Order: sequence, then structure tokens, then C-alpha cells
Amino acid sequence: MIVVDLADSFNSDEELTIDVYYHGNPVMDPSGWGGFYFMSGYAFNLGVGFEDVPHCYGRVWFPCNDDFVYKAVYLFKITTQIEHKAVCGGELINTLINYTEETITYTWVINHEIPTYLASIAVGSYELQSHIYEGIEEDIPVEFYIYPGDSARTAESFINIDSVLSIYEHKFGPYAWNRVVYVEVPFSSGAMEHVTNIAMGRAFIDGTLDYEDLFYHELAHMWFGDQITCSSAEDMWINEGWATFCETVYIQYLYGDQEAKAYRRASHEPVIRYYPIQDGGFHALYPMDQSLTYSRTVYEKGASVAHALRGYLGDDLFFTAITQFLQDKSYTSISSYDMRDYL
Ligand SMILES: [Zn+2]
Repeated sequence: MIVVDLADSFNSDEELTIDVYYHGNPVMDPSGWGGFYFMSGYAFNLGVGFEDVPHCYGRVWFPCNDDFVYKAVYLFKITTQIEHKAVCGGELINTLINYTEETITYTWVINHEIPTYLASIAVGSYELQSHIYEGIEEDIPVEFYIYPGDSARTAESFINIDSVLSIYEHKFGPYAWNRVVYVEVPFSSGAMEHVTNIAMGRAFIDGTLDYEDLFYHELAHMWFGDQITCSSAEDMWINEGWATFCETVYIQYLYGDQEAKAYRRASHEPVIRYYPIQDGGFHALYPMDQSLTYSRTVYEKGASVAHALRGYLGDDLFFTAITQFLQDKSYTSISSYDMRDYL
């Protein structure tokens, strides 16, 4: 918390610019999941702290109002060793080598306003593997920043990425960002949907399709979570329930109705019978207690409610409405009531 003593008095509608100079050693979330890692020759952040409140974790590496509503544009200048790459969200606009210092500085910008927890960085020995996906409105680069030697297994694991992008674009509207990016990190407990820089644990990019649900859950967040963001932790089902719902959507259009029904039924049962025990009762999705922000109830009951809405409205109305909702509310934070009233 920074307290600023102003030399003069100001009116409440006056604008002030404050420069904050800061340094430090970034910290980890008490859960051991979110925060800033220096590990195995890589440095990277994961933008949410499951057990810290507020969950947003921009503050572990830059000064900010750390919530789901405060949004800003970003410019990152990352200086590292010449043999390393610094990968952030947005667009790489400059690289500058300092031969005396033997360093390199990468400058990235994000021109859309995003919340603190979706800003990201990963630094290390990376190779770029990329191709162009022909989107419904424009060509979109698809990039994988991977460990040297991981190109074959990356290609195998992500063999369906263009198909899934196409499914999501046709169901939820054009991709809202300039690139699709996964960055491999030395991590085995999941992934994080940073804007155009999805941090993906290396353990999951293993040359199989076993973790497609994780890959395309994170990709779905580019619509649900990143294009629109829950306006409070208590509304987290808007991010996580809908991204979980999208898993069934891509499975349906990639693998067929039977696969999708089997996939979803396997989650419906624990939503009714097990998660209420695990999470201490049958909870309404909103307002969810912050001790349960990232609970199975939020993910799986949230997905069940999205499925119920789809069933109730019918596919035409449902997908048209939710696509329009995403368009109208792009780059803003929305509440459960906003979504209810719109639909
Ligand atoms: Zn998620």
C-alpha cells in the first residue's frame, strides 16, 4: 500500500500523474501457485493467488490497483541476458542489444486495457514456433515459445489448435487479440490465461492430446475472462464456469455429440453429488465466498449453468446472444447481473 502525501490540495475532479519508482523481490501466493517464479533457468509470473485476497496478483511485480475492474494499457521493458528471450503479452515493438553490458532489452506493448492479473512475463531460453491461423475476420499469428528441442511434441499436442480457434470464433465471435500465444514454463500444476501469453506448464506439452481440455480451456479464456472479465472475485463463474463450458463446446464440434455428452455428464454428476460436500454446501454461483473463488463449484457448476442456459434458449438464440454480449462488453468487467440482464 502506497500513501501519497500531496503538497497542495486538489479538487476531486483534477487529474494528477504520479511516478512510482520501485524495486524488490517478487513473492509467491500462500497456496504456492500464483506469484513470480525464478525456476530452472526461467523467470515467469502466474497472475492469480488462489489463497491471497485480493486474488489478482499484479502487485507482486508492479504497482497497481489490484482488482478485476481496474484496467490499463501496458508497456514492458525487460532487460535480460543476450541468450534469453523475454516474452510478454501484446506486441513486441523493439529489441535492443547492449554490447557493453551484454544484455538485451525487449519492449512489449498491450494497447487494449486489461486487468492487472492478465499482465505477464516469461523469460528464458525460448524458441519461437509459429504459424498463421486464418481467422473469420483476419489472419492471426499462433505462436509457441518453447524450450529448445520441444518443437515436435508441441506440434503434436497442438495439432487441433486451428480447428478449436475456428470453433470458438464461430460460436463466440472474432478473436479479440493480436496473437494467440502459449509460453512453456517449468511448472506442472496447470496453466494461466494471461492475455496473448498463456503460461502452460511444460509437463502438459508431451506430444499427446491428453491435455487438450487444459489447452483449450485456457484458449477459451481469451473470450471469457480476457475479452470480458468478471467484475469481482464473487463473480468468478463468469471466467471459470464459461471457460469450462467451452471445453464441451470444442469437444462437440471437434469430436462429436456423443463425446461431448459423455464429457459433460462426467462433470454433472459430481456437481450434484460430490462438489457440495467438498465445498461445504450447495452454493449459489453469485456471490461466491472468496475462500471458494477457484473451487470446483465455480468451475463445474458454473459450466452446468451455462449449459442450462444453452438448453433453455436453444443454440441459435444462445450463441447469437452471448456473441453479441462479448462484442458489446469487450475489454470491460461485467457482473453476474449484467450477464443475466443482457441474456
Ligand atoms: Zn480457467
